[in-house]
Amino acid sequence: MSQRERNLVLAVDDEVDFLELIEQIGAGVGCDVITADSATRFREQIARRQPALILLDLQMPGMDGIEALRYLARQGTTAGILLASGMDQRVLASARQLGDSLGLRMLGTLQKPAMLEDIEALLVRHLEPGEGLTAEELARAIAEHELSIHYQPKVRRAHGDWQVASAEALVRWRHPRLGLLYPREFLPLAERSGLIVGVTDFVLTDAIRQIGHWRQRGLNIGATVNLSPRLVQDLEFPDRLGRLLREFDAAPEQLTLEVTEAASVDDPELVMDIFTRLRVRGVGLALDDFGTGTSSLTQLYKMPFSEVKIDCALVAEVPHTKPAATVLRAIIDLAHALSLTVCAEGVETVQTFEFLEQAGCDALQGDFIAVAMPAAEIETFAHAWQGVHRSATLQG
Ligand code: C2E
Ligand code: MG
Ligand code: MG
Repeated sequence: MSQRERNLVLAVDDEVDFLELIEQIGAGVGCDVITADSATRFREQIARRQPALILLDLQMPGMDGIEALRYLARQGTTAGILLASGMDQRVLASARQLGDSLGLRMLGTLQKPAMLEDIEALLVRHLEPGEGLTAEELARAIAEHELSIHYQPKVRRAHGDWQVASAEALVRWRHPRLGLLYPREFLPLAERSGLIVGVTDFVLTDAIRQIGHWRQRGLNIGATVNLSPRLVQDLEFPDRLGRLLREFDAAPEQLTLEVTEAASVDDPELVMDIFTRLRVRGVGLALDDFGTGTSSLTQLYKMPFSEVKIDCALVAEVPHTKPAATVLRAIIDLAHALSLTVCAEGVETVQTFEFLEQAGCDALQGDFIAVAMPAAEIETFAHAWQGVHRSATLQG
């Protein structure tokens, strides 16, 4: 994704407390915050993401703020930059000038210590919260079918081979003015406005219709749908889902719902009720983004999950980083001991694929296998994959 992520802030500071504060403020004003507390982490974040706004501490051990500005200029960063520092206003002002002369989009300065309200006001003023996306626009988008779903294939080990077993439904918004928007650009708005219920119903209906369609075409392909924490609190949800499955004549076993740990913190009993009813009906339940710090081990045995999805960030570290490989192997063994299947997300290279295959991972998903695609392309992909794999097996 080369376009800027409109709702994303990168906060760079060696004070972890300050970073946590920015994360909290970000959550409050509805933007996503990623952080870096070292030069290495800063470069990693810039390589991976395109924040709309960078809040940069001028003084960090091991990183000179001016050097960081030069680095951003070399990378061609188009993000707006806010400088923060405990140094006096004049130092901040001259650093800002330097940024201007490097061609960076310098937005202003923040004198530390800063008041919470000041930081909040700065974020709101300088972020383009979805460039002015409104709940009304999103409501219209849902009603007028501006949302579309891309499916990312997932392969599963079967009889010593990897087969296309299902596809994850990932929502996109074809915005008439802004072009294709990715989930992280509008899901926070959907959550805040309650429209996530409409978004999810749209995605679920599409996915369940696809399951029925693939079955009619003689393909044994399931679908997975991401479920917002809010829907996991909705007691009507299992019945609505049951109706949808019947309407499209889709087997519940072909549907898996993915939730993150956040889903079950507020009211564990209610969530347990809903999860258990879903599992009893035969629907799969996956714990998404495992290994990111937002997921916990207790979830694994307390909630009736059928699968664990290991987050891209951890998967990206293997096979090069030995400790990450050790953690990954341990997660796979732990999940198996709890009778859960394990899917690794974000498989980007053949080396990672082979590592995970050897480590006993049950399912794999990621750009190395296939990027998300329109549903109509899945069938062709599945045949092509099977062809390549069959010939590889025969040759091997
Ligand atoms: P997720 O459920 O963890 O989905 C995986 C994300 O990783 C997707 O991004 C996918 O395109 C991306 N990805 C897959 N393989 C690779 C890879 O090899 N390398 C890299 N760098 N990335 C890879 P996407 O589509 O932008 O979705 C982001 C998140 O938005 C999803 O993360 C999910 O949490 C959320 N989301 C997407 N669709 C829906 C939806 O319909 N409802 C809800 N509630 N959330 C959704
Ligand atoms: Mg997911
Ligand atoms: Mg995930």
